[in-house]
Amino acid sequence: MANTGYNPFENAQAQFDGVADTIGLDTSMKEFLRQPMREYHVSIPVKMDDGTTRTFKGFRMLHNDARGPGKGGIRFHPEETADTVRALSMWMTWKCAVADIPLGGGKGGIICDPRTMSAGEQERLCRGYIRALGENVGPFVDVPAPDVMTNNQHMLWMLDEYETIAGGRFPGMITGKPVGMGGSLGRTEATGYGVIYTLKDLLRCMNISPADTTASIQGFGNVAEYAAQMYTGLGGKIIAVSCWNNADKVAYTFKKASGCNIDELVSIKDKFGSIDKEKALALGYEVLAGDEWLKQDVDILIPCALENQITPAVFGNISKSVKIICEGANGPTTPDCDPLIKERGIILLPDFLCNAGGVTCSYFEQVQCNMNYFWDKKEVLEKLEYKMTSAFRAVYDLAQEKGVYMRDAAYMIAIERVANAVKLRGWVSNS
Ligand code: GLU
Repeated sequence: MANTGYNPFENAQAQFDGVADTIGLDTSMKEFLRQPMREYHVSIPVKMDDGTTRTFKGFRMLHNDARGPGKGGIRFHPEETADTVRALSMWMTWKCAVADIPLGGGKGGIICDPRTMSAGEQERLCRGYIRALGENVGPFVDVPAPDVMTNNQHMLWMLDEYETIAGGRFPGMITGKPVGMGGSLGRTEATGYGVIYTLKDLLRCMNISPADTTASIQGFGNVAEYAAQMYTGLGGKIIAVSCWNNADKVAYTFKKASGCNIDELVSIKDKFGSIDKEKALALGYEVLAGDEWLKQDVDILIPCALENQITPAVFGNISKSVKIICEGANGPTTPDCDPLIKERGIILLPDFLCNAGGVTCSYFEQVQCNMNYFWDKKEVLEKLEYKMTSAFRAVYDLAQEKGVYMRDAAYMIAIERVANAVKLRGWVSNS
């Protein structure tokens, strides 16, 4: 989707192929796992406020459901593509497997720009998408959630449409719902907090206190906001935050060498994560256009925006001070950049491990919906940290044992788990 000339699905397949060959996955299994099992392409006619009807294109891809129903967000973006959704569905399979939750991988997307649509138009789009998908989503089939530019209100409209069709209450059909309407406390914070739980675990292994580190963040949507909040809460200092400005069609980096005040930045951002330039200048931030966030002399880079942001073309701009890249976004680093990162000795916390907190909390949301009993926030976050730390430990230990990059270790664990489920179900037998 991010227009960098890279195809995320080819990236996802290249990452998978590399590890599949290393672990000697047999050919028939490799062929099965390198593509989605099911794909839905839908056209959604929506009555616009001006009386015209516009048809939107939507996708839902189910990469694999051997370990449980499909699971994964729905993105609204004007540059959404089928291949991006395919890639993201595949990454969801590995994410649920590495987090060891009983769910498969799915993803949805609609080509649209919610920034320019009224609430009523967005509601009709959400309802139309669910009607178009029919029985191909559901609590035991494939369970959507929020992602880029979608939120809990979109999820509730989708649930309401599904329940109207299905004739009952099925709160486990979708996650990321509002609290009080089947949502889980902590779900809004979960992805960002999960990123920092993993970072904290890594820093502990490196004998570094978070309070002695500095970071630069790309993005200021839901993931970045809560990651920044938890990281600064641990004493870390954020020097720069970069985000997209939709009016200027350019990304700006908001910099404060003494450390950004996250609450202050949150108070001047819109609901799509764009920080107000004028207000930031008035608060003493430097406002720089372009990829300045990458060039900062910090210890940690935390990309929390879109895919294909760290490429060989920009790698040279990364400051020599950077020791860790913590991937809050899905697919922010292209596979051809991984060798450069390894060569420079930068430690990488891979996306589908690092940002698994969101889906893990979604799983808790489903569990709570099924019991119809909801935990307090402390209980949710304790369980989340336990799951994230267990996943981190498994990946970190394997990476140490085999002397491999953490992305490869995470893939090894995830692919083995999914291939095992596929084999046990008898879908693919040894060649
Ligand atoms: N959209 C989030 C992700 O990419 C969460 C998915 C979910 O909760 O199902 O991990």
